[in-house]
Parts: sequence; structure tokens; C-alpha cells
Amino acid sequence: MVAIRDLLKGCSASNKHVVIIGNGISGITCARNIRKKSDFFITVISSETEYHFSRTALMYVYMGHLRFEDTKPYEDGFWAKNKINLLHKYVTKVEASNKTLHFSDGEDFKYDILIIATGSKPNKFGWPGQELRGVQGLYSFQDLRLLEENTKEIKQAVVIGGGLIGIELAEMLNSRKIDVTFLVREKHFWDLVMPEEEAILIEKEIKSHHINLKLGTELEEVLSDENGKVKAVTTKSGEIIPCQFVGLTVGVSPNISFLNDSEIKIDRGVLVNEFFETNVKDVYAIGDCAQFTSSINGRRSIEQVWYTGRMHGETLAHTLTTIKTNYNPGPWFNSAKFFDIEYQTYGDVPSIISEPLNSFYWEHPSGKMCFRVVFDIQTHQLIGINVFGIRMRHEVFNRWLTEGKKIDYVMEHLPEANFDPEFFVRYEKEINLQFNKELV
Ligand SMILES: Cc1cc2nc3c(=O)[nH]c(=O)nc-3n(C[C@H](O)[C@H](O)[C@H](O)COP(=O)(O)OP(=O)(O)OC[C@H]3O[C@@H](n4cnc5c(N)ncnc54)[C@H](O)[C@@H]3O)c2cc1C
Repeated sequence: MVAIRDLLKGCSASNKHVVIIGNGISGITCARNIRKKSDFFITVISSETEYHFSRTALMYVYMGHLRFEDTKPYEDGFWAKNKINLLHKYVTKVEASNKTLHFSDGEDFKYDILIIATGSKPNKFGWPGQELRGVQGLYSFQDLRLLEENTKEIKQAVVIGGGLIGIELAEMLNSRKIDVTFLVREKHFWDLVMPEEEAILIEKEIKSHHINLKLGTELEEVLSDENGKVKAVTTKSGEIIPCQFVGLTVGVSPNISFLNDSEIKIDRGVLVNEFFETNVKDVYAIGDCAQFTSSINGRRSIEQVWYTGRMHGETLAHTLTTIKTNYNPGPWFNSAKFFDIEYQTYGDVPSIISEPLNSFYWEHPSGKMCFRVVFDIQTHQLIGINVFGIRMRHEVFNRWLTEGKKIDYVMEHLPEANFDPEFFVRYEKEINLQFNKELV
């Protein structure tokens, strides 16, 4: 590892020192884009891994589809070649009044511009037994290591929390032939986000992979064996489920506790305006850990997804090197995979659709594909789209949403949005036939 003294040799008074805490997608994108457009002295700090890796690919390492090495989008030599210094250290404190960072090993580090890109950490809600051996969340490289350790030769696992990481973890454990019980507090899977039909479709997919999905079921306690290792969980309804592993996947929150005693204002995340500026001059925050003080384009104040982190990084780099630029994301977009079913969502698809909105829903008889379009009853304007099992083009829906296209236009031009490879069966005709029957 490079010593701080050696690292700082290249930093001169004429050269601003930009320090980024966090080597995830937001911090790394920002560093790369600053490098492209400036000769700033750049240092990226992370306590997790020395080199950036793709967090969204972690599951494939556990499932044996990739080696960890394959999750690194850049060769190790890329950073030195591009004069981006890397420090593998943990920041315990930011002293903004004299632009100094303190590390857990007792060393200090000066910056001119500080970018906080420290991501998220898994939530824990104080359940009895949550600290037992064999109980963990899934976020970091270290969590992946621990998961390997914790799931060696086990037979039964319980996953708590029905969101995106929960279903990934269930799939990961399932791939190793571990019996998984999946506890979801809500009436349906991810029903705070998805309409009921989509939620039920995914529930069927989960069950078809022999996961014991228990809806409307809450964790009460994790029980210990005589060696301090998990042996079972109890639910609020009094059921005892034997297991040797518990995955806690009940959401994430900004990883910012090291800022508790700093001058930088925090709430759930680091508070920023549309330029990613905090209340302290020359200190910015981006990615999962940033919380906007006012809503931007009607979007949530904290965006915990990969592609928005990348956009944050690009936008801030542009401000720091070229011209002050506000964050102006287009319509909301997200994608994921639920076992074998790919999911894409564009714009706004509320979990409960009521006036002034209406929606049209189509589902293939196989139960593996569906399509929903949400529109305004009065204006007929497109509001949002959910699509499962059929690949659609992001840029087409993005354009239609931005241009405020009407529902009739969208349905008529649906084939333009299809992204499935050649010779894949197409479903636009079927979708349109049902649409015409129900809504025209
Ligand atoms: C298993 C999993 C699957 C996911 N799948 C998807 C998906 O399919 N699609 C999607 O859009 N999103 C997905 N996400 C979410 C996505 O990965 C995150 O939104 C994104 O990675 C956040 O990027 P970031 O740069 O803000 O922070 P992070 O990637 O969290 O990086 C922050 C880094 O800062 C480091 N750090 C924190 N504090 C300190 C400190 N004090 N000192 C030094 N270093 C520090 C952390 O250790 C970490 O390395 C997934 C997340 C997980 C965990």
C-alpha cells in the first residue's frame, strides 16, 4: 500500500487536491470524469476494497458465475496510469474547519475539495439475537466473505425482508441447495413498490424455485444455540423456524455515522442541494449517501440505485471541472432480475393506481411475462410502465415519458420499444388486442 507521504509527493499548491471517500460507482465515476477534464490531484479512499468492483455483481460471485476478479471493471494498473491515487483506509472523522480527514490508523489527510460517496449499510432494527453468529446483511465485499463462511455446510436459511436484496440472497442460497424460508412482512412481495398483479407474478416465480415464501410474517427473535450461533427464528405469530443462517435484508440506509460530530449537516443522509453542495464550502456528497433537501423532478430525496450514483458522479465532475451544473435526472428508471424474470420500470407506476390515473395490465398465460402502462385519465398522457420478462428499450420509454406521449401513441408504437434479440417471440400484437378490447 502507498504511504501517504509518498502519495502526496505529486500534489502541488497549484494543483487542487480532490479527495473522494468511497470507491463505489458514484465516487469512481466522479474521479474518472474529473480526471478526463482536469489535472486535479485526485485521491479515492475506501475501507472496503483497494480497487473498485461492481457491487451489483456480488451475487454472481457467490453463485459461481464470476470470480471476484471479474467484477472489477478496470485493470488494477488503470488507476496509476490515470493518476488516480487509491487509499485503502477508513475515515473516522472529517474536520471541515481545517479541511482534514482522520483515519482509523491515526493518520491525517488534507483535502481542498471533499466528495463524500460512502454509500449505504444494511438496516438492523434491534431484533433480539441479530448479532448472533450466522446472522448478517448483504452489502459489502466483507459481507460476501462472511456469507461464504456462514453458509458452509448449512441446510436451512431464513431471509428476512422482501425487497431486491432479499430476493437476490434467497436465489444465492437456493443455488447452493440450501432450504430457504423467505419472510415478508407485507401482504405481497415488494407491494409497497409494485401493484398487486406484478407482486403475485413474482411470488409465483419465487415459489416455483422451491423457496418457502411466507407473506404477512414478521420476525420476532433470532434464537441461539449453546455456542452463540443461530439455531432458529421465531415469528410474531409464534412459529419457530429452525435454521443455521439468517439474512437480514430489510433495506439500507446512508453510511454516514463517521460524520456525526462534524460540521456537515446530516439527516438520514448527507444533506445536499441540486449541485450536491453540502452546508460546508468545498464539501459535496453523491450516490446512496446523499439526501436532497428539496425534491428534484418529483423524485425521492435519497436514491439508492446504481445508475443514479453514476449520474451523480458525472454531474458533479462536470461542475468541478467545466461549469456549474444542476442534477437533472430524466424520468425514474430501474431494473432488476427476480430469479429468471427480468424487470424494468420507467416513470411512475404506483403500487395502488387510482384516480386521476388508470392503467392497463397484460399478462402472458405462462405467468412469466407482463406489461403495465399507467396513464392520466383526463389527458391520456403516459405516466409509467412496468415490464417483466420482455426487454424494452430504455431510451424509447425515456423519450416518450419526457415528451409526454399519449397512451394511444405508446400502444401503437410499442414494437419500437422492443429490445428482445431477433427471432424472439414478440407480444405487442397480443398486448394491443387486449388493450383495444378493454380500453378503446
Ligand atoms: C447485493 C446488492 C445488489 C444490488 N443490485 C442492484 C441492482 O441490480 N440495480 C441497482 O440499481 N442497484 C443495485 N444495488 C444498489 C447499488 O449497488 C448501490 O445503489 C450503489 O452501489 C451505491 O453506490 P455508491 O457509490 O453510492 O456507494 P457504495 O457502492 O456503497 O460505495 C461506497 C464505498 O465507500 C466506503 N466507505 C464508506 N464509509 C467509509 C469511510 N468512512 N471511510 C472509507 N470508506 C468508506 C464503503 O466501504 C464503500 O466501499 C445493489 C446493492 C447490493 C448490496
